[in-house]
Amino acid sequence: MRKLLLAFLLITSIAQAQVIDVTTASKAITAAVLKEHLSVIASAEMQGRETGTEGERKAAAYLMSQYKKFNLKAGYNGNYRLPFTLYKDELGKSELKINGEPATLDQDYWMYSANVPASTLKTNAIIFVGNDFNDKITVDVKGKILVATENEENSMRKVMAAQKLGAAAMIIVAKTNTNTSNLATARPRLAAKSTSFPYFKVSKSFGSKLVGGSKAFSDQEWADMPKGVYSTNIEWSVEQQTKELPSADVIAYMPAKEKTDEYLFITSHYDHEGIKNGVIYYGADDDGSGTASVVTIASAFANAAKHGFVPKRNIVFMNVSGEEKGLLGSKYYAEHPVFPLEKTTADLNIDMVGRIDPTYTGDSNNYVYVIGEEKISSDLQKITNKVNNEVGHLELDRRFNDPKDPNRFYYRSDHYNFALKGVPVLFYFNGTHKDYHQPSDTIEKINFDLMEKRVRFIFNTAWEIATRDEMLKRDMPLDMTGR
Ligand SMILES: [Zn+2]
Repeated sequence: MRKLLLAFLLITSIAQAQVIDVTTASKAITAAVLKEHLSVIASAEMQGRETGTEGERKAAAYLMSQYKKFNLKAGYNGNYRLPFTLYKDELGKSELKINGEPATLDQDYWMYSANVPASTLKTNAIIFVGNDFNDKITVDVKGKILVATENEENSMRKVMAAQKLGAAAMIIVAKTNTNTSNLATARPRLAAKSTSFPYFKVSKSFGSKLVGGSKAFSDQEWADMPKGVYSTNIEWSVEQQTKELPSADVIAYMPAKEKTDEYLFITSHYDHEGIKNGVIYYGADDDGSGTASVVTIASAFANAAKHGFVPKRNIVFMNVSGEEKGLLGSKYYAEHPVFPLEKTTADLNIDMVGRIDPTYTGDSNNYVYVIGEEKISSDLQKITNKVNNEVGHLELDRRFNDPKDPNRFYYRSDHYNFALKGVPVLFYFNGTHKDYHQPSDTIEKINFDLMEKRVRFIFNTAWEIATRDEMLKRDMPLDMTGR
């Protein structure tokens, strides 16, 4: 009897308790809490958090410990780690012979690590395509080695055309003899096998051998050179070592009770540039600030949950790696989603929100750039404006949505991989500054009061999107660029 009565009392007291409102909940986001997290994330111990390094793993371990502490669910098969592997090529020995005559690297020919897959090429004929080669050419070049001459425009255009037409390789006869090979380690990639296309440059003097010459031709002689097939022997071999870089995104979520198959994502990248020449690149703003923001927003939602708040749809907190290597952690997620992308209502991506753009002309203590929100859903900008009018009161600057803006920020952070899959996105950004991608991007330059305003605004927006009745509609015309 007594027990029963107690249980009854307990139930009524829960039912009568006031469920926390968004304004009260957002007060858990403070400059002090943001600073506490960023002090760890941007510390020397994290060694600049380069993808695939010890520093990155330490940062991931910190994030996972926080999500666990907040009682959030692990996002990937019971794990907070969503592992993936990057592959990185290191060039080894290379050999080039034209008509049996060996060429010397960095004197007779130049290679570029991004464009030299491990390969062996052997042929007794080349096709000389001259100076104005493009992919409109009607000659069948499949499997052939093409030789072009260099002009002022970027050689890569010719190389891309050659690849598109199915050629085996392209050799460019250099305009000058003052080239430098770039044999630094190639950028890491997600695919185990390289898809890069063999391309190198030869000097003008050595290059004449490609078309049967024995001395260097003049520019005019090259210009008059008949296009077509030349019987030339080429032997080219490149050795390469491919290294594996194990990495991981960190993923946690707060489960919904009602719309259990719908998701809102809040993301940042926790990787940065690591250590170069012994110097740590701390990445306090890029993107320690966004990462501290995601953790703090997660803690505010977790705190709200303790006070009766249940989101209508699941809220996923994801910190990706590999961003500085080419948005690779988010690309991996978009290619291997844990939660269906068509049921992902939006991705709110936070990348650099702790600083002030020195060129900002408005109230620099009260602004944030919002990027990409109008491109996929007509709902998102309305929601952003409504939340800002009610509680944010920030200057929302949308200048970077101008398709003519040369910075192309819309393409330069992780939300873009969600956009490519048709998920509505919003990118929060403070603009760049002199410490951008410098070792001097350190925590003492962060403006935590401004950051608090921005992060509360993002939290309010997330709350609105997580609790509204409908998913964001996808009603804007989407093309292959995700615009
Ligand atoms: Zn960044």
